[in-house]
Amino acid sequence: MANASPPIHLHHDDLPEGLDLGTVVAIDTETMGLNPLRDRLCVVQLSAGDGEAHLVKIAHEAKPAPRLAALLADPKVEILFHFARFDLSVLSLNIGPIVGPIYCTKIASKLARTYTDRHGLADLVSESLGFSLSKAQQSSDWGHDSLSDEQIAYAASDVLYLHQIRERLDRMLEREGRMAEARACFDFLPVRCALDLNGFDHLDIFAHS
Ligand code: MN
Repeated sequence: MANASPPIHLHHDDLPEGLDLGTVVAIDTETMGLNPLRDRLCVVQLSAGDGEAHLVKIAHEAKPAPRLAALLADPKVEILFHFARFDLSVLSLNIGPIVGPIYCTKIASKLARTYTDRHGLADLVSESLGFSLSKAQQSSDWGHDSLSDEQIAYAASDVLYLHQIRERLDRMLEREGRMAEARACFDFLPVRCALDLNGFDHLDIFAHS
């Protein structure tokens, strides 16, 4: 499974017209760095969970992306992320707000898989799907005018498996009685991102001091 190459569609500036990704869409972003206020958005990856990935390359002089923005603003579409806290900030700053429900596989993993402190995407793929995911391109130059084949394959792999991982995590959350807590944490994510972007990113407002 890991070596079969899935269909990957590369688009520029926005999604193509008429593309239907269904009501549960996995999304990831690649940026110039880890500070959403400083580092520009370079790629948005999407998958309907059907084994295909759509990559939207965002040019240095970014143009509006109305079809991508409409997808994010569709209240009927649930978006799956791995570490939603980052992607949510990046997307809200660069494309537009997310209106529908959000799911984060990293939060779900932390609430369900309390037997480990390994909650990276590669850890989840390895445990749930039984193959190893290469993170070799994680810190490459996503701002380059053209993406390498390795970057394209890596970017796609960040969204291709999220539906399967989510199913498994949901079963664990149900089993452990933590589904309601997980849902409440996902629903809190837009507030968490607003706090991040307003300078509260390193402050635990729930802590005593
Ligand atoms: Mn990624």
